Amino acid sequence: MRITVVGGGVIGLLTAIECVRAGGEHQVDLVDAGPIPSPAATSNDRLRVVRALHRGVPTLTLAAAGAHAGWMDVECLIGTRFYHPTGALTAMPEQDTPAELALLTTAGAKAWALSPKDLATWYPRIRFPAGTAAVLEATAGVVLADHALVAMAHWLGAQSRVRLHPHRQAVAVSQSGEAAMIRFADGETRTTDRVVVAAGPWSRELLPTAVGSDLTLYRQSVLSYRPPTSRRDWAGMPAVLGLGPARDAWLMPSVPQSDAPMRLSAASACRPVDEMSDRVTPDKWREHLIGVFSRLLPAFDPAAVVGASDGFYLAERTHGGPLLTEYGAGRVLAFAACGGMSFKFAPQIARAIADRAVGATPRPTGLDSIDRPRQLAAVGEE
Ligand SMILES: Cc1cc2nc3c(=O)[nH]c(=O)nc-3n(C[C@H](O)[C@H](O)[C@H](O)COP(=O)(O)OP(=O)(O)OC[C@H]3O[C@@H](n4cnc5c(N)ncnc54)[C@H](O)[C@@H]3O)c2cc1C
Repeated sequence: MRITVVGGGVIGLLTAIECVRAGGEHQVDLVDAGPIPSPAATSNDRLRVVRALHRGVPTLTLAAAGAHAGWMDVECLIGTRFYHPTGALTAMPEQDTPAELALLTTAGAKAWALSPKDLATWYPRIRFPAGTAAVLEATAGVVLADHALVAMAHWLGAQSRVRLHPHRQAVAVSQSGEAAMIRFADGETRTTDRVVVAAGPWSRELLPTAVGSDLTLYRQSVLSYRPPTSRRDWAGMPAVLGLGPARDAWLMPSVPQSDAPMRLSAASACRPVDEMSDRVTPDKWREHLIGVFSRLLPAFDPAAVVGASDGFYLAERTHGGPLLTEYGAGRVLAFAACGGMSFKFAPQIARAIADRAVGATPRPTGLDSIDRPRQLAAVGEE
């Protein structure tokens, strides 16, 4: 089978890896509009959180409980460490902790409940509203995303059945008869057995309008923060979620293995937009987040905000998550919407996409929109 993967973000790289792991005589070509990995990829950031708890949603929590194991499996294959089990703390009203703890333990995740007193004792650097308790997940953590992408691209570059094609922008993907086709910006057309579109928030440009119109593009601003106090004061800090009165702010910790600053953001800094532009954070959103964290971190110092950047992702309009689509008897597989949480699921999602691409029975991810892809009729170029 000749498989061409369009996009060298986390999903494209891992899909190519899984196609190789499937064995057989599959030839994999990975193309990206930029370098591989591309600095423009949504995945190519310093940190991404991997945690199980999706409050009140057992199916997602169950699927996410295996996410860290997926990342550790990739680490073993590649021989590089990029997953760091910092833990993840989700703040919530005290009365909610028994149910959320039960959700996690039923899903097989190792977790503890922390009382308001525990929070005050162990996390004095964070201001929790009165009556706030939390659940701490032990195996949750962060992936050093940029390190992971470089290591994966390097591994792929050493495989005899893989060819990497940086700086090749696809402008159209279609299917005709037994073949799938890709047209590139330079006018060349490639015919192949299977195409996997993993173009992140750019996927709309390669999808039929019928799918593209069901997707919402989001833009999220994130602050980079180096606390003025010594690194040791923040040592051992887990990822923290559910912060603030709206319980929508989050903090990604720095880890000793990286010089990446902490990342601070909130759902209130995520907004739907019509199109992708640059990733420069507008002053309004930077100030908004500074305001949010001035209230949440007692020792917050705006001068320690060392940067801010915006990222984009596409989400399916009705459920707000990722979406896989298949055209023409599976010759084109498109990861149409990457969603705001696909990094952690990427090993599972990529395995399922690769299984389909090589013609194997897809292993379930537990994510309905991946396990039951939206089927489209055969499509030609629009
Ligand atoms: C601010 C922010 C924070 C997030 N935090 C988390 C988190 O903590 N945990 C989590 O699980 N998820 C998180 N996510 C979501 C996650 O980062 C994304 O869902 C995931 O990285 C998307 O990966 P991808 O491979 O689908 O796309 P990308 O990483 O964007 O890769 C797409 C690639 O396709 C290439 N490309 C695009 N168009 C073309 C074309 N026409 N031809 C050739 N190549 C093309 C691009 O150059 C790029 O390299 C976050 C997202 C944002 C924006």
